[in-house]
Amino acid sequence: LDGEPAFIASDLYPNTQANDNVLGFYSSRERFKLVLDNIRQTRKANISDKVRLLQDGLDQDTPKTGMLVYHPVFEGESDNLLGVVIGVVRTTYYFENLLASAVGDMDVYIRVTDTGFEAEDSPILFETEGYEAVSGHHITKTIELTNRDWKVDYKIDSCISFYGYLVLTGIVLVGTTISLLLAYIVNMQIREKERLYQMLDKRTEELRFLANHDSLTEVYNRRAFNKMLDKAIQRNKPFSLIGFDVDKFKGINDQFGHPAGDALLIHVIKLISVSLKEGDNLFRIGGDEFCIISSITNHEALDRYLQCILSTVSHSHCEHKGRQLSCTLSIGAAIRANENTEEILQKTDSMLYQSKSNGRNRVTIAG
Ligand code: GH3
Ligand code: MG
Repeated sequence: LDGEPAFIASDLYPNTQANDNVLGFYSSRERFKLVLDNIRQTRKANISDKVRLLQDGLDQDTPKTGMLVYHPVFEGESDNLLGVVIGVVRTTYYFENLLASAVGDMDVYIRVTDTGFEAEDSPILFETEGYEAVSGHHITKTIELTNRDWKVDYKIDSCISFYGYLVLTGIVLVGTTISLLLAYIVNMQIREKERLYQMLDKRTEELRFLANHDSLTEVYNRRAFNKMLDKAIQRNKPFSLIGFDVDKFKGINDQFGHPAGDALLIHVIKLISVSLKEGDNLFRIGGDEFCIISSITNHEALDRYLQCILSTVSHSHCEHKGRQLSCTLSIGAAIRANENTEEILQKTDSMLYQSKSNGRNRVTIAG
């Protein structure tokens, strides 16, 4: 892969003086003895703690970036252990390329810690940049390997509101990714590698979906909005930007509780989703604030479109625990002439503000 040798040295069992002389090093006899005991019991490949790779130099300060994989060779189905082939893997390379690419877009910070034999001196196998500094929600999971456990810590920034579904799903997927990574390291076969890469691509796609969607309403999130608005500006094709916000939404939460507020938001967004013109996109910017990027650029047509959304929402209600909940919206919109991103956002925002200050439950369009 990219000219990086993944398997560099090999070691042999039995550990005779002749073999030692050929290889010229032996990192830990106790480690190997434990591995052999485990291999005899399980017949499965074993994984070492982190090791310093010889090609990085012999200096004791050189970071440990490798890992040994012990592959047993038995005589047929018998218990006669003929030998052990030891592969050397540059761990950091695999973690950084495979794992980081799978979670790169998400605000999930990961640390993988080896808790197995002799790992104490340098237990951290992988850590997302900035992990230490994050002080949000924290979940720990253990991945059980044949002969050792890896502790995986997940952290997310507490300012992220879509905690539940996104992160839990993310964690399951990240766990899967690590398992796949290990399966790959242990199996080493080209065919297997391709299959695992395909599975990894699929997981990555799923993660990408989660990274661009809001977990409560399932419409696009703010991240997707920023990207799409920039694209729309660059494309230089006319469009309109619509912003809307639920009126007195805090009061609904206060009176009926947060779950009722959630249910009402879901209800409103479902209604609007089905009223959207084909090709228009709906985004949740945060809280009770949403945006639409629309292809409608005629002032009267845009007004009809938004009045229709306004009255559809205000004349509807949702049932929650035997109660009928309803709300109104304040809507602001601007048809893009040649404004840049900042300017069109600002314009839409001030139209929305105008709808609020003129008494709410209304549409204001710039120009
Ligand atoms: P205004 O008419 O001026 O918009 O009044 P408002 O009460 O709606 O004020 P504002 O938009 O500032 O309040 C938004 C509220 O939405 C505050 C916050 O507690 C609540 N909120 C934000 N996210 C969620 C959510 O995911 N679920 C629920 N139930 N409430 C949320
Ligand atoms: Mg509001």
